[in-house]
Amino acid sequence: MEKCFYKSTRSKKAKINASEAIIKGLADDGGLYVPMEFPVLDRPIEKLMNMNYKELAFYIMKMYLTDFEEDELNECIDKAYDEKFDTPLIAPVVEKVGANFLELYHGPTLAFKDMALSILPHLLKTASRKIGLDKEIVILTATSGDTGKAALEGFANVEGIKIIVFFPEDGVSEIQKRQMITQEGSNTFVIGIKGNFDDAQTGVKKIFGDTEFNYEINQRGYIFSSANSINVGRLIPQIVYYFYAYLNLLKEGKIQKNEKINIVVPTGNFGNILAAYYGKKMGLPVNKLICASNENNVLYDFINTGVYDRKREFKKTISPSMDILVSSNLERFLYELSGQDEELIKDMMKKLSEDGRYEITDKMKKGLSDFYGGYTNDAKTYETIKEVYEDSGYLIDPHTAVAYAVYKKYKEDTGDNTKTVIASTASPFKFTRSVMKAISDDFGSMGDFELVKEISKLTELEVPKGIKDLCKKDILHKKTCESNEIKSVISEILCE
Ligand SMILES: *Cc1c(COP(=O)(O)O)cnc(C)c1O
Repeated sequence: MEKCFYKSTRSKKAKINASEAIIKGLADDGGLYVPMEFPVLDRPIEKLMNMNYKELAFYIMKMYLTDFEEDELNECIDKAYDEKFDTPLIAPVVEKVGANFLELYHGPTLAFKDMALSILPHLLKTASRKIGLDKEIVILTATSGDTGKAALEGFANVEGIKIIVFFPEDGVSEIQKRQMITQEGSNTFVIGIKGNFDDAQTGVKKIFGDTEFNYEINQRGYIFSSANSINVGRLIPQIVYYFYAYLNLLKEGKIQKNEKINIVVPTGNFGNILAAYYGKKMGLPVNKLICASNENNVLYDFINTGVYDRKREFKKTISPSMDILVSSNLERFLYELSGQDEELIKDMMKKLSEDGRYEITDKMKKGLSDFYGGYTNDAKTYETIKEVYEDSGYLIDPHTAVAYAVYKKYKEDTGDNTKTVIASTASPFKFTRSVMKAISDDFGSMGDFELVKEISKLTELEVPKGIKDLCKKDILHKKTCESNEIKSVISEILCE
């Protein structure tokens, strides 16, 4: 097998192997690590049809993690995709209302981030052993809700790693907050920030850039790392489920050999949809990649004009995990669009940080045709949840509803009838309030935990174990701090 090496999107600097890229997270020049060449399938895709999720994960990930021994990778996969998921299928595909919903929310925290964050800790730990790192890894995360809990769940009790999560005390849902402050595991630390998500995020970013502080904690035997989606260790595991969905359709006779599919992804940081694009480069038969946004429609504008402009009002929506104005993973796509031109990418990213805007070249614009960009608003999102439920009894969460609404628009616009997979990124049980509000006005006075029971009645689905006894669980994390106290809080934890 060809060795897969990685380099930064912003310079021609030395190539490194997967282990180093996973440990480092971000390149020193501020760029993101990308594979120097894309591995391609070594056999016709239908030959993969009888693999289960774990076997397919091994086949795909081994092509990227060529410095991992087979046993090492298998161990990581076994530890990640086990009974934490409430179905052995891991990512089932369900056909409803003319589309195929790829349910990525069967993990412990009910959102798609579990797909990668359940394996990342094991990849990190293995990588650290392989490169002979003599420091304990400390994961620092600021979260607006989903990432924090998924990371805590993934890293809890993983030896040799600590995880510290900061969340805006009054900026997450009742369920999200409970999920975090009841987290077990002696290596987990959860702190509420008095401020909003931006305060938490800015505070944490400052720590990563604080050379003196980083040196100090290095001396104490620690090294900071990130579980953010800029890490290639989060991207690679996400490629697997797009192949899995394709093979599922093939197996069920819904598509023929080599028939192309469309993939719709509700998009924020461009990580999930980028994994589908990487899949296409490896030989997955894809027609259109449909990028669905909410009213923070910076990607819609980009795909339609080639201009990225983050200077606009930030909107709070009912699909909060997509409320993003700077999609960091887009940089990896730009890198491929430009024919791997580091200088050009460096220049565009500089423009983005200085002017808040950049425009791609005419040559690059041609490559945008792999994608279709669409967006929708909250009113239409509520309507879509209700309509899908009334047509089919299938309940979808607001993020998935954004994807489905954009897909319908795409069909109207193009008349394209290609079979389509929709990435269903969260369980309706996770965004109970918006989901129930879409269905009826009768639930307004109920608390989030009561609403969980109502959803269970409505769908005849059992309450997922991740939130089942949440209101009975002990609160284990009570610490709060001001956003300018983040550094001293971290110091305290690491000095204990
Ligand atoms: C994180 C998240 C998204 C956005 O995914 P990106 O990889 O950031 O594009 C969409 N839906 C849900 C539920 C999420 O948690």
